[in-house]
Amino acid sequence: MKILIVEDEPKTGDYLRQGLREAGFTVDLATTGPDGLHLALHADPDLVILDVMLPGMDGWQVLRAIRTGGKTMPVLFLTARDQVDDRVKGLEMGADDYLVKPFSFAELLARVRTILRRGRSGTEATSLQVADLELDLLRRRVSRAGKRIDLTAKEFGLLELLMRRQGEVLPRSLIASQVWDMNFDSDTNVIEVAMRRLRAKVDDSFEPRLIQTVRGMGYVLEVPEPA
Ligand code: CA
Repeated sequence: MKILIVEDEPKTGDYLRQGLREAGFTVDLATTGPDGLHLALHADPDLVILDVMLPGMDGWQVLRAIRTGGKTMPVLFLTARDQVDDRVKGLEMGADDYLVKPFSFAELLARVRTILRRGRSGTEATSLQVADLELDLLRRRVSRAGKRIDLTAKEFGLLELLMRRQGEVLPRSLIASQVWDMNFDSDTNVIEVAMRRLRAKVDDSFEPRLIQTVRGMGYVLEVPEPA
């Protein structure tokens, strides 16, 4: 994953570049608006971290030009505390998130990971597909091998989460918080019951079985490797 940092303060830029490299990202650093725009358009970063006050072009102008140039990668804005109103403006203009300076690196890294997981803005998928299982996010419909499957709202939410995070083992605590708004300590039996119903509908009459239980860890939806 490649991240472009556009930041004119050398200390902040170096600090971010070093931290993100240590976290395993490839990093480009630009120190002016025009250089940042050039790299955003031509170096194909997965995410841009964009300071607002920049020489040459400010962050807003850079963001507008990135979008005009047809690029939909997510943009995380860095704003100073006295530019709080700017945050709203940034989000309206198509930024994906913002951080107020000063921020901790841990916070930045958490935001970066969340945004990258969410995928590219502007190209948000309207349907999800794994093997012959399809989930239509707009019409809230699910089908497998072309056959319509009726799900309750919770079952739909559960399946959507599993499909979005395909191949990832999801702990019950995460499922509880994402689908039920419950805490880790809540009764996880609810999840098991819903999971059993979901599997009966999605997996029982089809091959291969897509939802797997990972004992002691949680659940994963993936196409199993051929035995
Ligand atoms: Ca600056």
